[in-house]
Amino acid sequence: MLAPAALTGSAIQLLISPQSEPRRRPALPQFPYHPNPVATGSVTTSDAPCMCCGQERGWVYTGPVHAAGAPDNGICPYCIAFGKAAERYDATFTDGIEGDVPKDVVTAILRRTPGFVAWQSPTWLTHCGDGAEFLGLAGAKELERYPDAVDDLRRRCAEWTWPPDEVEDFLGSLDEDDQPTAYLFRCRACATHLAYADFTGPCPPSVTGARRDPPHPPPRSNSVNNGL
Ligand SMILES: [Zn+2]
Ligand SMILES: [Zn+2]
Repeated sequence: MLAPAALTGSAIQLLISPQSEPRRRPALPQFPYHPNPVATGSVTTSDAPCMCCGQERGWVYTGPVHAAGAPDNGICPYCIAFGKAAERYDATFTDGIEGDVPKDVVTAILRRTPGFVAWQSPTWLTHCGDGAEFLGLAGAKELERYPDAVDDLRRRCAEWTWPPDEVEDFLGSLDEDDQPTAYLFRCRACATHLAYADFTGPCPPSVTGARRDPPHPPPRSNSVNNGL
């Protein structure tokens, strides 16, 4: 019997409407290049067995899978982390990597790291000779905290030979949930924030000025797949 003194607040609430205990889920494997895949939306909870290992792991990967014959969804993050899904389906989870990094880094990013959904082919950014950590999708509002990432975006836009005012319009129109969207990374060595942005179609409407033709969409970056 509970002493009456204990029946206060939340204890009473639990007696009135018992809550079902939420399922305890195991800790996710460590992903050095994608430290919080739940926060970025690339991994979510699931009670279904994994399509690759058949185990009920409590988590499922929701990002892209590049492989013929691999399931589009239903792979658990453990099968990604331990390379089992990459081996079984000859799969990669991101399209390409920008810049030169050692081959083991390429393998880790393409084959053992959860990818992310982008408007065009997702590209992993690198810095200081290593792959960067993916922090998530970002819009203009989210990027306010990361001026170094905005500088990086501005530099990339300048490479598209857009006029400066159009670049600023574009940066202001970035949206976490709708295109154009930025993809935010952080260097694992020097902690500089990096970002690139993409969109589909000829041009995001908010950037189209009535007075001039819309800018061309950003070209596919110098992605390399390094033969994997
Ligand atoms: Zn699995
Ligand atoms: Zn760096």
